[in-house]
Amino acid sequence: MRYSGLRVLAEGLRGNRGWRPAWDRPDPQDAYDIVIIGGGGHGLSTAYYLARNHGLRNIAVLEKGYLGSGNIGRNTTIVRANYLLPGNSEFYSHSLRLWEGLEADLNYNVMHSQRGLINLFHSDGQRDAFARRGNAMINQGDDAILLDRDGVRDHLPYLDFDNIRFPVYGGLLHPRGGTARHDAVAWGYARAASRLGVHLIENCEVTGIDVAGGRVTGVQTSRGAIRAKKVAMVVAGRSSQVAAMADLTLPIESHVLQAFVTEGLKPCIDHVVSFGMGHFYISQSDKGGLVFGGDIDFYPSYAARGGLHMAEHVMEAAMTLMPMIGRARVLRSWGGIMDMSPDGSPIIDRTPVDGLYVNCGWNYGGFKAVPASGWCLAHLMATEESHEVARRYRLDRFATGHLLDEEGTGSQHNLH
Ligand SMILES: Cc1cc2nc3c(=O)[nH]c(=O)nc-3n(C[C@H](O)[C@H](O)[C@H](O)COP(=O)(O)OP(=O)(O)OC[C@H]3O[C@@H](n4cnc5c(N)ncnc54)[C@H](O)[C@@H]3O)c2cc1C
Repeated sequence: MRYSGLRVLAEGLRGNRGWRPAWDRPDPQDAYDIVIIGGGGHGLSTAYYLARNHGLRNIAVLEKGYLGSGNIGRNTTIVRANYLLPGNSEFYSHSLRLWEGLEADLNYNVMHSQRGLINLFHSDGQRDAFARRGNAMINQGDDAILLDRDGVRDHLPYLDFDNIRFPVYGGLLHPRGGTARHDAVAWGYARAASRLGVHLIENCEVTGIDVAGGRVTGVQTSRGAIRAKKVAMVVAGRSSQVAAMADLTLPIESHVLQAFVTEGLKPCIDHVVSFGMGHFYISQSDKGGLVFGGDIDFYPSYAARGGLHMAEHVMEAAMTLMPMIGRARVLRSWGGIMDMSPDGSPIIDRTPVDGLYVNCGWNYGGFKAVPASGWCLAHLMATEESHEVARRYRLDRFATGHLLDEEGTGSQHNLH
């Protein structure tokens, strides 16, 4: 069923009796050509692009909970392409271009809102670094505008510009950056993949990976064994645990990252604002809640909830930057399990087991990567060639030393 304004009108007149479930819920088959483990953003987008770009059909996505129950439905929804390093720059640029056509492509409203992202700086040295980053973004074909203090004031008059420790010197504006509705992205990809014949199997936990003669042959699940010619592990914070099922050790640590939302307020913050020095960023959701967060809790964990020490740190940073926020009441907070790589950049690659692929290491930033990540993993699985914008996301770079350390934000910040 195609969604359209006309359809909404027609269904309204018919008492909304014609709507169908957004995706089918088939029982698992005994065998598939391709099995994707993990029904988060990356798993769903991989399945969709395998079907859409490469014409493959015999595909299953196995999700241990319900679709969208992981980080894809827990993040703070920021979408941007403001990277500096070759390797990251072209990948996130590709992703942003896919975002810009995503709603039409999926026939689904993911509420992509290019409201602009401003990264603040607080010293001359940081200004130079942001100027360099902005130039790299422009050279990549993306957009960046270096704002001085008054330029930031025009956009964000509510900041404390004269904080003793972090006076605002200016900011780097990325006008095409913004937000999208996170779970709508999962639902949109799920629906589009299902329409192309992909089997989405919920409540199906993978408990083992079958390997014979160095080649993957299938998976064991809570709903029985499933044979497969190719298997991809796309499980974010559970990457190390799932890889261990094939006797693989990944360079990934799982850490909890928290987010917070206030009660709904009238529109007051119309950009995404990032205060890197204070580990704080914020935007306002379409419902009016101020959505904000900070850094990981700084200890490895599989708990999808965070500690009070980081909650306190984030609140302090918020009050430092924008004292007006003290008037808002925090409604709730939550955590997600992040797959942190040592250099802060992801992995999209084959593994030493033939037919077994890995997509992980998304750190804080995997939501914006969802379109390009699925696009590139699908390309790799279908053609056995890395996509040109994801060539540097190799698993062996931690052995060869070809790291992609963008901002020193990997699993152990103190080691950078
Ligand atoms: C609080 C927070 C804020 C964030 N903010 C941003 C942001 O603003 N911008 C941004 O770009 N990124 C952000 N991120 C990061 C982003 O959400 C993640 O990098 C990204 O969602 C991870 O990929 P995914 O969607 O595929 O993960 P997930 O949605 O976690 O998908 C993995 C899936 O695998 C399933 N799974 C695990 N083990 C198994 C198994 N054995 N069998 C079957 N299924 C299994 C899980 O249930 C899960 O559904 C944030 C994350 C958090 C937690």
